[in-house]
Amino acid sequence: MFADLAEQLRIREQKGLRRTRQIADSSQASHITIDGCDYLAFSSNDYLGLANHPELIASACDGARLYGVGAGASHLINGHSAAHHDLETALATFTGFPRALLFSTGYMANIGMVTALAGREDAVFADKLNHASLNDAALLSRAQFIRYPHCDLAALEQRLATVQARRKLVISDAVFSMEGDIAPIRRLIELCERYHAWLLLDDAHGFGVLGEQGRGSLFLPGSAHPHSPSLVYMATLGKAAGVFGAFVAAQPEVIETLVQSARSYIYTTATPPLLAHALLTSVRLIGQDEWRREALRRNIAQLKQGLQSSPWKLLPSVTPIQPLLIGDSVEAVRISQGLREQGILVPAIRPPTVPQGTARLRISLSATHQPDDIQRLVRALHDLAPS
Ligand SMILES: *Cc1c(COP(=O)(O)O)cnc(C)c1O
Repeated sequence: MFADLAEQLRIREQKGLRRTRQIADSSQASHITIDGCDYLAFSSNDYLGLANHPELIASACDGARLYGVGAGASHLINGHSAAHHDLETALATFTGFPRALLFSTGYMANIGMVTALAGREDAVFADKLNHASLNDAALLSRAQFIRYPHCDLAALEQRLATVQARRKLVISDAVFSMEGDIAPIRRLIELCERYHAWLLLDDAHGFGVLGEQGRGSLFLPGSAHPHSPSLVYMATLGKAAGVFGAFVAAQPEVIETLVQSARSYIYTTATPPLLAHALLTSVRLIGQDEWRREALRRNIAQLKQGLQSSPWKLLPSVTPIQPLLIGDSVEAVRISQGLREQGILVPAIRPPTVPQGTARLRISLSATHQPDDIQRLVRALHDLAPS
């Protein structure tokens, strides 16, 4: 038994695919300590710099004093606290939906919402570059699983028109996690309305960052307001919101269906209420601290400007995810390693996570990066360019 596992691990190692974890000794910020060394990090999803915010830490402590540290039970037994309830109300209001439902993680939210809404007689249509959790969810639902080329709405329409199914669900990232580009939301909604399909939108990277007051991708100019009734919106609370968890927002019938039948909601312990208590502060800060999004926009502009004369091109992205296209996997690893030797963390993303020949450095920016930080990254990249 063990010889077989060891052999598989050895093959993985040989292909250069073995992954390792680094041990962080500091809290999450643009400057972090890993294995005892200091780094300037461009590798976190803490886009607004809230993960380590003093007001959030104070709220988490207050939450612990009010509710203790553990929820003690699942939401449908007696783990559903006033903090969870208030947060759901705040998130529904903030995102413009009648109801919202908290899940423990984004992974579990996607598993729960897709499997509760789709079954054997149904069809799920998915963008090829969707997050792994949406793909896993579609497979687990046992629905027909039909993938379409990235953001290719003509291909999607052709599939929606020909596939026979009781219920049709289109699922898509709103902001694609390895590209940083934004789905054509308005046109997706129109297409789904025309074919009587549901649209499930995963806004893990847009919530808090995009749209008026950081209300998410649906609040981008020209996106989708007022929300279509066939829209089911999901976002995570461990990225820009700086804490942990996720939520789904939709019409009351959808949310009630999830409460009754989403297995990853029902058969799990509720997240600690102290996190929901802290997230109430987070939602308030997201709405009011416009300067964080302005700082992000400035950082994005400075990076683009700084890399204009680089031999490598940034993919077209207006989000904090700024992938620098390298192409060759070995070269991408060389540059990532070279940056690391200079105390800068930028992960190299290689196939199979991205298509063959499109290895990249995934630079993620935060509102807490200073102009000097961006300048340091730009200089280091210029030094690592082949002469
Ligand atoms: C991070 C992410 C998730 C998973 O969210 P977690 O809360 O980390 O489990 C789901 N979808 C997308 C697009 C993500 O980027």
